[in-house]
Amino acid sequence: MTTFPARCDTLVTNGHVLTMDEGFTAWPEGAVAITGGKITAVGAMMGAAGVQADEVVDARGGIVLPGFVNTHCHAAMVLFRGLADDRPLDGFLKAVWAAEAAHVTPETVLAGATLGMAEMALGGVTHVVDMYFHPDATVEAAAHVGLGLTVGPVFIGFDGIDHLPWPDRCRFAEDFVARHRATPGVELMLMPHSAYTLDARKLAEITALSDRLGVPIHVHAAEAPSEMALVRDQHGTTPIRALERAGMIRPGTLLAHAVHLDDEEIALLAERGVAMSHCPLSNAKLASGTARLRDLRRAGAITSLGTDGASSGNDLDMFRTMRLAAQMAILATGEPDVLPARDIVAMATRGGAVAAGMAGRKGVLAPGYDADLTVVGLDRPHLIPSYDPYSTLVYAAGRSDVSDVIARGRRIVQAGNLTTGIAPAVERVRQVAARIAPAGVPRPKV
Ligand SMILES: [Zn+2]
Repeated sequence: MTTFPARCDTLVTNGHVLTMDEGFTAWPEGAVAITGGKITAVGAMMGAAGVQADEVVDARGGIVLPGFVNTHCHAAMVLFRGLADDRPLDGFLKAVWAAEAAHVTPETVLAGATLGMAEMALGGVTHVVDMYFHPDATVEAAAHVGLGLTVGPVFIGFDGIDHLPWPDRCRFAEDFVARHRATPGVELMLMPHSAYTLDARKLAEITALSDRLGVPIHVHAAEAPSEMALVRDQHGTTPIRALERAGMIRPGTLLAHAVHLDDEEIALLAERGVAMSHCPLSNAKLASGTARLRDLRRAGAITSLGTDGASSGNDLDMFRTMRLAAQMAILATGEPDVLPARDIVAMATRGGAVAAGMAGRKGVLAPGYDADLTVVGLDRPHLIPSYDPYSTLVYAAGRSDVSDVIARGRRIVQAGNLTTGIAPAVERVRQVAARIAPAGVPRPKV
């Protein structure tokens, strides 16, 4: 039996604890002890009897699992949620980029990202990889809500909505990294947008900067047919091969989407230890395609799940992301057993931590890991009975079933409510939305 410490800051009791370690160790009547933002013990309830805790979180028979790691998001893009629906990636980008140019400032990014972070926290996310302009505002939003954040400077080959010409952009990147190397809860990545918005020379420059700063790379790649055509025109090859030429296909790199891959590219990603963030909500809505998840996993590639921004996937819901990932993999292969529910939950937790370079620190409930965990209540009609907790999470539960969330030891959601106020951000996003679409949302001509 696990030996619990005599005292701890927080004790989570009475839960079906899924540790999500490699062996899928679970404690049907389990407890988790937390001190100083770290997990100090995980085991059967019996072993935790008599532990003195400053705070007790009673899971009331619900599921306790590591907080979700959302490996691809643009949180502030909640500002454009539902603004450009019913069109493919190129048309979507045209509409969203126009709205961004007119309305994105550090101040509106702070408001939008605060809402995005709040939405994710309420849905059981404890860490997010976020790519967006004005990343200092995203850092502030994540700290306010209490989420862990992987963030970094965005690189795009033209001036962009942050109005940074290339030399200034590179200088900003170095300054940003220096500024946030020691920011609590913040992990760093350089974030080139994609091979279709950057030429070969700039991509190679970013790789050199990544080497010099010791900061890995997160980039969109092989998302949609229109992108494949653009990259063929600009680089004469596929996005993966263009990134390979630039030196980016290497351990530590995290690709968003990676939908359109040939067999050789799948083998290359697996061999080089490149991770991918599968974003099924966005891929399905924009008709981008179906990622070759089965083949990537069989090849041994690192796979994880992302929501993408709320302007393409429309919400930041990791439960829907898990379910759609499972359903799309099943439909694409005709194999109902292609991706068992517990492997999907692993992708959303441990897999996310590995993909974002946090293996051994996050994504598993074990002593020494960051105290990032989510409690999912099981007392509502749609979750009764629960024969298999992984199946319940993937195929029946939703984010409104999340009761409590702890991130780095801090309780950020309690009884289904945020522990931090976000009213000013809500008001500000409403104001911005009224300016973006004063007469309602414009619809495309069909
Ligand atoms: Zn994206």
